[in-house]
Amino acid sequence: MPGGFGGALDQNPCPCGGGAYGSCCAPLHRGDQRAETAEQLMRSRYSAFARCEIDYLLATHSEPDVPAQQRHRSLEQSCRQTRWLGLTVLAVSGGGPQDLEGTVQFEARYRGGVLKETSLFQRRDGAEDGPWLYVGALHLEG
Ligand SMILES: [Zn+2]
Repeated sequence: MPGGFGGALDQNPCPCGGGAYGSCCAPLHRGDQRAETAEQLMRSRYSAFARCEIDYLLATHSEPDVPAQQRHRSLEQSCRQTRWLGLTVLAVSGGGPQDLEGTVQFEARYRGGVLKETSLFQRRDGAEDGPWLYVGALHLEG
């Protein structure tokens, strides 16, 4: 049933809490749309963790020193082991459509705990029209 399979799933609430998955993070995961802000990328990465969209996680995190196969394996493991329950964005600095860099502070709840992180995001190669990438955690708790 071409097209129907994804359509039914798309009505489900998006893991990031931004509405129906089909109109929230799905277009980003599919590559139909690009995150315009660091917060949007952060949300879509959280949803990707919750839905095990490994390729999206790989594509939106710059980690040139780690072999792709190894990254894939560890992400897969993390997705299987962690059940994500919800996301709250606490603070955003920069990361807008005109910015090259930004941070997002968030709280992500999972079965058994809460992850609090301030993430750093930059546009690829510092280019004004470059896609947003997750660089790393500035501050990690939990
Ligand atoms: Zn979403």
